[in-house]
Amino acid sequence: MHELSITQEILRYSLQEALRQGADKIRTIRLRLGPFSGIVPECIQMYLDLLSEGTIAQGAKIEAVTLPLKVRCRDCGRESEITRSRIACPFCSSLRLQILSGKEFIIESLEVDIHGNQSSPSGDGME
Ligand SMILES: [Zn+2]
Repeated sequence: MHELSITQEILRYSLQEALRQGADKIRTIRLRLGPFSGIVPECIQMYLDLLSEGTIAQGAKIEAVTLPLKVRCRDCGRESEITRSRIACPFCSSLRLQILSGKEFIIESLEVDIHGNQSSPSGDGME
């Protein structure tokens, strides 16, 4: 997977967003990843450390949440969310599954400092 170009994308978006909020520093970048996104958060962190040098994102941490996999069973027709450790229909145990999602890659939120004050614009501020 192209973690380098993805990280450049994340960084560009984050800097843009931080600028709009008048932030001095980006502390955390929260990502939501589908189980088949092919993205390794550790690689993103590694590239971010390199790319963010000298920007307000320097030292920012990547926090990634893996989303469940959405499937539709070809036998019983029901939709469900499963984990990658057990790929079978939870209703009828069929292995004939159609994958509905799993390649998502979403920047969920940023945690930034605005003029020295911590802020969590899309969270509840509890950390
Ligand atoms: Zn089923």
